[in-house]
Amino acid sequence: ARSMARSGQHFLQIPGPSPVPERVLQAMDRQVIDHRGPEFGRLGREVMDGCRSIFRTAGPVVIYPSSGTGAWEAAIVNTLSPGDRVLMAETGQFATLWRQMAARLGLEVEFIPGDWRRGAPPDVIEATLASDRSHAIKAVMVVHNETSTGALSRVPAIRRAIDAAGHPALFMVDTISSLGSADYRHDEWQVDVTIACSQKGLMLPPGLGFNAMSEKALAASRTNRMPRSYWDWAEMLKPNANGFFPYTPATTLLYGMREAIAILHEEGLDAVFARHHHLAAATRAAVGAWGLEVLCQEEAEHSPVLTAVMMPPGHDADHLRKVVLESCDMSLGAGLGKLAGKVFRIGHLGACNSLVLAGALSGVEMGLARAGVPHRAGGVAAALAVLAEPGDGGLRTQ
Ligand code: PLP
Repeated sequence: ARSMARSGQHFLQIPGPSPVPERVLQAMDRQVIDHRGPEFGRLGREVMDGCRSIFRTAGPVVIYPSSGTGAWEAAIVNTLSPGDRVLMAETGQFATLWRQMAARLGLEVEFIPGDWRRGAPPDVIEATLASDRSHAIKAVMVVHNETSTGALSRVPAIRRAIDAAGHPALFMVDTISSLGSADYRHDEWQVDVTIACSQKGLMLPPGLGFNAMSEKALAASRTNRMPRSYWDWAEMLKPNANGFFPYTPATTLLYGMREAIAILHEEGLDAVFARHHHLAAATRAAVGAWGLEVLCQEEAEHSPVLTAVMMPPGHDADHLRKVVLESCDMSLGAGLGKLAGKVFRIGHLGACNSLVLAGALSGVEMGLARAGVPHRAGGVAAALAVLAEPGDGGLRTQ
C-alpha cells in the first residue's frame, strides 16, 4: 500500500516552501556564471527590476542569500538603535518569533496581545500611537500574513491608523508568506520596510530574503546605531546599482527568480491574487461542510495563502497529518507554538490551482475518515461547487 501511495507526485500542501513550477526548476538547472562578469550584471539588473514590480515599489529592493529570518534581522539592524521602543502585535507564532528577535537585538517591544485568531488591530495601534506623545515608539512592525494562523492583517488600515495618530514611526511589514500570493503594494500603502523571502508566493526554493525600503527607511539607516555588516543596506545598494552584489550571490536562485517573476506577470498579479482568494474560499467551504472550524475568526482577514483548521477536542492534528502523509503522500502544515496538535494548515499559495486544491482537499477528507476524526462528508463537493464558479472568491482591497 505504501509503494502505491508513493507513485505519482507528492502533494506539498504546507504554507511554504511551496512547490516549484517546472519552468522555474528548468531555469535553475544551469551552470553558475562569474558573479562579477557582464552576464551576471544583466541578470542582476533584470531580477532587481522585476522585484520592484512584485513589491509594487519604485524604490530599491535588496536580495540577500538568506531565509526570511535573515531579512527580518536586516530590517531591524538597518533602521533602529539599541533601546528603541517598537510596537508589534501578537498575531501568532511568527509575530512572536519576530518579537523575540527584536528583544534580543536590544529593542523595547510593546506587544499588543492577541488570541491568534485574527490580524493586527488597527484601532489599538492607533490608540497606542496617539498616546505616545513624545514619539518614543520608533517603529510599528506587523506580519501581513500570519502563517501560523491563516489571518491576514489589514496593512492599509494600519497605515491609516498610524497617519490618524499623526505618528512618525517607521512601518515595517513581514510579507514572507504573502508576497506574490496576496495583494500587496509597498509604495501605495506607504510601508517603510517590506520583508519577504523566496519559498512561498514567489514559487522558488528557500534561500533568498528581501528588504524593500522607503526613502524614510533609507534616511533612518544613515543615522541609526545598530551594528551590522553582512546585512548593511548601503553595502548592498552600491554594487546593486549595476546588478552586482557585495559578496557571492545565490546565482542559481536568481535564474529561478527571473523565471518566477515572468510567470507571475504572464498571469497578471491581480489575476494571481484573485486565484488565491478563490482557492481560499473553496477551502473554507470544504471546512464548513466537514463541520470543522477555521481558526481565523475575522471574515475580512481570512488568508488567501493558507487555511488553518481546528481539530475537534480530543483529536490530535499531528496524528491526522501522519495518516494523510502515509496514506495519500501529502504534507500538511503542523500547528505551531501553542497551536501544536490543535490545528493543521492547508497551504494554497504559490503555483496552486483548482485541481491541485481539489486533490489536496480530497486527501484531507479521506484522512479525516481514516483517522476517525468526527466530521460530515461533502467537504470536497462543497469546494468543487465554489471552484466551478467563475470569479475571485470575493477579492477586495482592504
Ligand atoms: N515570517 C513568516 C510570516 C513566516 O511564515 C516565516 C516562515 O515560515 C518566517 C517569518 C521565517 O522565515 P524563514 O523560515 O524563511 O526564516
